[in-house]
Amino acid sequence: MTTTTVIRNVRPMGGPAADVLLDGATISAVVPAGQAAADLPTLVDGKGQLLVPAMVEAHTHFDKTLWATPWRPNSAGPTRNHRISNEQAVLKDFKVPMAERAAPLIEQCIARGSLYFRSHVDAQTAWGIGHVQEMLALRERYKHVIDMQLVSFPQGGLLISPGALELMERSLELGVDVVGGIDPAGIDNDPIRHLEAVFGLAVKFGRGVDIHLHDLGELGRWEIDRIADMTAAHGLEGRVMLSHAYSLGAFPPADLHAMADRLAALRISVMTCAPGYVTVPPVAMLRSRGVNVCSGSDGIRDAWSPMGNGDMLERARLIALRFGWSKDADLAAAFDVVSHGGARALGLAGYGVEAGCQANLVLLDAENMAAAVVECGPRRTVISRGRVVARDGVYTGT
Ligand SMILES: [Zn+2]
Repeated sequence: MTTTTVIRNVRPMGGPAADVLLDGATISAVVPAGQAAADLPTLVDGKGQLLVPAMVEAHTHFDKTLWATPWRPNSAGPTRNHRISNEQAVLKDFKVPMAERAAPLIEQCIARGSLYFRSHVDAQTAWGIGHVQEMLALRERYKHVIDMQLVSFPQGGLLISPGALELMERSLELGVDVVGGIDPAGIDNDPIRHLEAVFGLAVKFGRGVDIHLHDLGELGRWEIDRIADMTAAHGLEGRVMLSHAYSLGAFPPADLHAMADRLAALRISVMTCAPGYVTVPPVAMLRSRGVNVCSGSDGIRDAWSPMGNGDMLERARLIALRFGWSKDADLAAAFDVVSHGGARALGLAGYGVEAGCQANLVLLDAENMAAAVVECGPRRTVISRGRVVARDGVYTGT
């Protein structure tokens, strides 16, 4: 074992103080604080801060953000379709190029402690393949710091939008990782054909599936069953994500036990941003039945909403607030959703703070995990691939 640098005197996940030995971009050992040889180079002296794995932003839309541009009052109408058409109008001919908005947002997310991302890229015929190419270029630009999965996402509908399916296919050929879908009934009005198209692309290209599902109540629950059917039929266990799945929050949790068991058996992950204005999946029940739950910011300061800042620690706090969680174990569970939950959903290897894991880590200035979630303090040191890339909320690069 070679040791290149040491993170000294940190408390992994709030446990006993430790020195963390790195071999390049990998954690090679975790030993009691003070036991690492004094002559080894110090990467960071943690001074007793918490050490956690870098967080996982499992659902966002970098290609749509208006970040780093002057404040723009929201101009969308009240319905989902209003928001879609408003966004098309806002982004069409927007004066600041997408990369100049998305890049500073990516750096903001890194500075807040996220190093793993899944970003949906709009397969919007109005702007063709451009968004995909720009997001692929951004992924390349930051690949020495972050891991980013891209989803080809038919925001304006797949069947009702001529050319969207071909655009998604082209996106997958260019290197987009995951096949997206959206409200097979509520937007495309033909749920089986929509899902057959989405799963057909997934099988053809050997990719996973991630479906935005806002459809409410029984309709949404019926669609989840159909998604489960197709996951099983196509052997895509462990590679399917339900994003939002608001309908899961419309029923008493006990009525959903059988569905939760089915999702767990098929290893279908559920992503929730825990919004306060709509029913949301019952996170604690789902987790108790073995369903993997992850989280994301969704849109961050875009034409849908001016909300969001890309801080997944704050997202953990919002999850806790949404469900009225206050016990330490529940607050730690909220952090698990934005960390290990995301890692499982994205199929990440070597994730954690143990020997053998990637040295993608965050130091938090907090007394324990529960306090970290409640306080969301700004003093964070972010380590990517064994190098410090952000201090005190500021991206420094490598
Ligand atoms: Zn979304």
